[in-house]
Amino acid sequence: MNLQDQDGRSFPYLRLSVTNVCNFSCTYCLPDGYQKTGLEKSELCVDEIRRLVTAFAGMGTHKVRLTGGEPTVRKDLMEIANAVANIDGINKLAITTNGYKLNTKAQQLYNSGIRAINVSVDSLSPEKFKQITKHNRFDEVIKGIDKCLEIGFESVKINVVLMKDFNDIEFEQFMLLSKMKQVSVRFIELMRTGDNIDFFDKHHISTEILIGKLLSNGWVQKLRSKEAGPATEYVHPEYKGRIGFIAPYSKDFCKSCNRLRVTSHGELQLCLFGDGRYDLRPLLQHDNQIQELQNTIQNLLNYKKSHHFLHNNNFGITNNLASIGG
Ligand code: SAM
Ligand code: SF4
Repeated sequence: MNLQDQDGRSFPYLRLSVTNVCNFSCTYCLPDGYQKTGLEKSELCVDEIRRLVTAFAGMGTHKVRLTGGEPTVRKDLMEIANAVANIDGINKLAITTNGYKLNTKAQQLYNSGIRAINVSVDSLSPEKFKQITKHNRFDEVIKGIDKCLEIGFESVKINVVLMKDFNDIEFEQFMLLSKMKQVSVRFIELMRTGDNIDFFDKHHISTEILIGKLLSNGWVQKLRSKEAGPATEYVHPEYKGRIGFIAPYSKDFCKSCNRLRVTSHGELQLCLFGDGRYDLRPLLQHDNQIQELQNTIQNLLNYKKSHHFLHNNNFGITNNLASIGG
């Protein structure tokens, strides 16, 4: 059985949030930091995650990204990673992290089977980094990225949320970074969520202008593989690294959607900007439920829409991306 939706899209990629908790307070995401409500459901345990990913792997998913909140706040993260990396059919285990204490954690992450790492760095100025995250940890995060390169992760990417009048003026510095280091710098268009409407209105800017700058400086777009997701990537012969863009407001963004998301409580979310979450947790309790779980996921896929409705100002139920993992 291979996961396919009504538009013929297949889903080799699962983004799995392992926690909603985060230790940073990024202005566009959790400006007041993670707040407990007292009504929290428990996070999926290692066995539930193992069953979930086994079901997906049996339906053609081969890449899993652990995300959050901040995935590294989970004490059993290495155990989770190890369990996922050893599931038949999973050949790429990735993580997205804010880089907290990454210089001391990178080796453990690698040893647990993670081979691709995305680290969020929204500014190359330590002061601005602090301004956006509320943490004075720029040097530590950059050392962490260097450590990942030294260890030999197959892919090291730097996620940059593009913000007008904040870091758009740092484009040249980020380009320089990709000249010196073998990293892919990914500019992500600021996305509007339930909690950041004013911030979005003030700081959203399209990535198009930056793409124009690259093209006029000898960069060329990398050929897209059949399974490539919605990101576009550019290369330059004189640069070690690459530059990429994730532009959800661009035309046809959803056509190449290749991913499904599951929250840290086991709810399937068919689209980042969708309206519904479907509780899979009751089907994660025993190894003998895997077939039923697979049938349920395949049926739910019938509800996946062809595209999001961001252009109609409908950004779905997601209040902040920390609750689903971005
Ligand atoms: N805490 C980890 C981190 O920051 O890398 C992982 C979770 S975070 C939600 C995943 C990615 O989503 C990060 O690169 C973050 O910058 C990005 N993100 C969060 N809120 C966003 C928003 N409103 N628009 C665009 N990207 C956002
Ligand atoms: Fe935390 Fe990541 Fe959200 Fe920043 S973007 S507040 S690090 S979850």
